Amino acid sequence: MSEPDADTLDPTSLRTPIVAVLGHVDHGKTSLLDKIRGSAVIEGEAGAITQHIGATAVPLDIISTIAGDLVDPDDFDLPGLLFIDTPGHHSFTTLRSRGGALADIAILVVDVNDGFQPQTLEALDILKRSETPFIVAANKIDTVPGWNPNEDSPINATYDAQSDRVTGRLDESLYTIIGNLSDEGFSADLYWRVQNFQRNVGVVPVSAMTGEGVPDLLAVMMGLSQRYMKAEMEIDVQGPGVGTVLEVKEEKGFGTTIDTVLYDGTIRADDQVVIGGMNDPIVTEVRALLQPRPLAEIRTESRFEKVEEVSAAAGIKVAAPDLADAMAGAPVRVVRNRELEEVVHEVEAELADIAVDTEEQGVVVKADTLGSLEAMADALSEVELPIVHAEVGDVAPRDVSVASTAEDPKQQVILGFNVDVLSDAERRAEIDDVTVFTDEVIYQLIEEYEEFVDELERAQQ
Ligand code: GDP
Repeated sequence: MSEPDADTLDPTSLRTPIVAVLGHVDHGKTSLLDKIRGSAVIEGEAGAITQHIGATAVPLDIISTIAGDLVDPDDFDLPGLLFIDTPGHHSFTTLRSRGGALADIAILVVDVNDGFQPQTLEALDILKRSETPFIVAANKIDTVPGWNPNEDSPINATYDAQSDRVTGRLDESLYTIIGNLSDEGFSADLYWRVQNFQRNVGVVPVSAMTGEGVPDLLAVMMGLSQRYMKAEMEIDVQGPGVGTVLEVKEEKGFGTTIDTVLYDGTIRADDQVVIGGMNDPIVTEVRALLQPRPLAEIRTESRFEKVEEVSAAAGIKVAAPDLADAMAGAPVRVVRNRELEEVVHEVEAELADIAVDTEEQGVVVKADTLGSLEAMADALSEVELPIVHAEVGDVAPRDVSVASTAEDPKQQVILGFNVDVLSDAERRAEIDDVTVFTDEVIYQLIEEYEEFVDELERAQQ
């Protein structure tokens, strides 16, 4: 039997919003997620926190316990919040749903001492493009001299006039962040002055270390989510499930499995499903739906327990035959009482929508998921670099063959985002004079390429 599930306990009209945490490296994304999860575990009754694959569900009653007076459960129709476990905008771009980002809302973490950094800007760019509503967590306020969390904290003095009494360096840092957001075209303010969080970005001072401000952050998230989900989401929580592949993984005893975030409907242990594959859509039948077992229960058999059904939003591992060609970032759809052909068609259409436009001449692009491939293509189109071939997967010898046929030496190049270079491909590239760049940050990858072009041009002069 499965644990009581936060997502199925209390059927409401709105599904759990999916929340992503973005921001520059070391600004505190992981710490903030840990703090929220940790507080939830401390506040939670045993079993209230559902174990998920790739995401943590925090039910409404736990949020309200953490947030105290700031969140009255009676004010909300949402079952809670589902936090994507892997922070960073890589996972954000990877995780797509129909035509947009998988996450419904985002938290952008900015270190108050460090301010805006390249990945902050990159994250903002992604949020802007995907039209994802977000709030800013101005993190590490505990490190600001003069900050006294116990007295007159503007954070605790929510929504009242007192709250304007932020003083000294913190004040300055917060206004710098607000100014930077406005430079990027966002209208932002300290959260207690914001009326409509969809129109204005709220800046919430927090400490992922002490937990201060976390109740406020959750309260603002809930307010924003409720409004957004009501306005934007037409969801049939009982219908055939729709989700996205997070990761394709070998799992002992189960073969190839897909970690999936379900963002709509339900998936059952006997469902027929259609999944985006490297070549054609994969049509297969669910063999098992797997959730991680609570740590205490892990014995010799399996880290997972089987469940019969989950409903959106949830992270779940799907075991099924024929998953070897499944692509991270690709759609997953339950067929159930629909025509198989129609569902296959939808998966094809969704894949075609993500597909990258290629030209006769250009560079070769490889990425680990469909979403990141698309993000790469967007970034390259901004610098007007054409793509001749784009594909999910590690850099392989045939990619080198394609790159070696470029007429322009500046395009005898492979750009790999979050992928490895197979050793055959490495050897081949040396022989064929193809340059391979790999990186885990898009703008760095492009910078490396631009330096290479500069050098080539200097050499030609
Ligand atoms: P990420 O790369 O954005 O996930 O950042 P981490 O969560 O790994 O945090 C980077 C470093 O900052 C770690 O050493 C954390 O302990 C520290 N850190 C994160 N949040 C806070 C905070 O609110 N206060 C203080 N003092 N340190 C923090």
